[in-house]
Amino acid sequence: MSPEQFGQAVLQWYDRHGRKDLPWQQDITPYRVWVSEIMLQQTQVATVLGYFDRFMAALPTVQALAAASEDEVLHLWTGLGYYSRARNLQCTAKLVVEQHGGEFPRDVEALAELPGIGRSTAGAIASLSMGLRAPILDGNVKRVLARYVAQEGYPGEPKVARQLWETAERLTPQQRVNHYTQAMMDLGATLCTRSKPTCLLCPLQQGCRAHQLGREGAFPAPKPRKALPRKRTLMPLLTNRDGAVLLYRRPSTGLWGGLWSLPELDDLTGLDPLAARHALRLGERRELPALTHTFSHFQLAIEPWLVEVQGAAPAVTEADWLWYNLATPPRLGLAAPVKTLLARAATELIAGDLP
Ligand code: SF4
Repeated sequence: MSPEQFGQAVLQWYDRHGRKDLPWQQDITPYRVWVSEIMLQQTQVATVLGYFDRFMAALPTVQALAAASEDEVLHLWTGLGYYSRARNLQCTAKLVVEQHGGEFPRDVEALAELPGIGRSTAGAIASLSMGLRAPILDGNVKRVLARYVAQEGYPGEPKVARQLWETAERLTPQQRVNHYTQAMMDLGATLCTRSKPTCLLCPLQQGCRAHQLGREGAFPAPKPRKALPRKRTLMPLLTNRDGAVLLYRRPSTGLWGGLWSLPELDDLTGLDPLAARHALRLGERRELPALTHTFSHFQLAIEPWLVEVQGAAPAVTEADWLWYNLATPPRLGLAAPVKTLLARAATELIAGDLP
């Protein structure tokens, strides 16, 4: 689809399906569009409807908003949430009155310089209320365009954002920009939804790259997860001739609080002090395949070692330590990777393959 065909498809869809009855689509002024855009930033259309009418009835002009008391503005906003929006709205209204003679500047860059008005909101005010050719890129439009061109990368990254703005700029038509802007917002809100977009009814289906690839859900890419820091530990499975492994109970607070776990060592030199502590005689040892456990804030690389305890293992004398019999396991709370490692040890034990 050429940019012209893209624009035409969107406008034809608007003529048939676009919303034309919203209160801010009547008596269109920059002030009314601006207030609606700010209200819609974190709130659904259905909720905004009642608030918008009340707000406009009480404060019909930017001058009225600038002159209102903060209490009144907040009162009119009560229930919409994110109250900083209301306070910023009034600050901007005062600025428009004091520095621009009560008229919103007819220029996207100048609009975007007003507090609380980003590039996309400026584009919406300019196109919807002034008919200026100005692209927008709010959340909904970003999703439509990212899918349409199969834009790789997270839109929060400057390079990706720049590419999306270029796409928005390239596809915005010369004519009927107000209807086009409204249509793009509606398309994102109704058809090209976050999950399960209705591509079958979409006017852009023919040229949509994500749809052609069958990868609508892959765009826009989510925020990349930061690589988690990695820690390592050595966990010895000290196994006695009765087929029991030495475990200890972790302190009640902290990682795996109160659960039973394997001892943790920096390296194999820690085995001797551990054996001495419990009066054990150690025999052969063998490394088992490593295991990685992911916590919310780090990854733990576990190096498990199977270690033979020779002779009759003495009963443990310290509280919070025990011999965990693999054949008749006691009912204990175990840390998840420890459970996995004990199951592995049990398999090796049955195979008669202990060191
Ligand atoms: S075809 Fe589907 S994925 Fe592409 S823009 Fe339309 S609704 Fe969105």
